[in-house]
Amino acid sequence: MRIKRLKLSGFKSFVEPAELHIEPGLTGVVGPNGCGKSNLLEAIRWVMGESSPKSMRGGGMEDVIFAGTAQRPPRDFAEVVLLADAGDNDSDLEVVRRIERGAGSAYRVNGRDVRAKDVALVFADAATGAHSPALVSQGKIAAVIAAKPAERRMMLEEAAGIAGLHVRRKDAEQK
Ligand code: ATP
Ligand code: MG
Repeated sequence: MRIKRLKLSGFKSFVEPAELHIEPGLTGVVGPNGCGKSNLLEAIRWVMGESSPKSMRGGGMEDVIFAGTAQRPPRDFAEVVLLADAGDNDSDLEVVRRIERGAGSAYRVNGRDVRAKDVALVFADAATGAHSPALVSQGKIAAVIAAKPAERRMMLEEAAGIAGLHVRRKDAEQK
């Protein structure tokens, strides 16, 4: 699976709708302090199902919604659309997550309303999930470099797709 496009609206500092095209290969994000680099990575995690406010650097679920500035009023929703190449038969995958103040968050996959759990399974298989080591956040680069060989191997194995098998097994055991 490869993330091809990302659309953000009302998500953290991305108040106006923004669309990013992600080219094949390694992608780095550069820019001045506070311009939204980390917010971008959080948007990717969020649309893939991240729900822990701690890893979203916020106090609550709704903190991802643009909170307003002296010049701009706050928004009442945040939406992130992720378009990916599913890999297998070149079919595109579109995942949408949207949160509205006071109404919680909802997901759509290829136009259909789905549960958070379904989204987790989509990305568990693809090894691209919110906790995937394929997403390297600020400060984590040092951890990867400093890791012992065995730890680093585990990170790479997870990135290569073994984590997906783990989630599927847990899901199967619950049935
Ligand atoms: P650095 O180089 O310092 O790591 P960065 O490019 O990673 O910076 P971010 O942390 O992504 O920057 O963005 C921080 C900005 O996002 C801050 O200006 C902060 O006020 C803004 N921000 C975060 N959450 C919200 C929100 N809910 N509403 C409005 N602005 C927000
Ligand atoms: Mg940052």
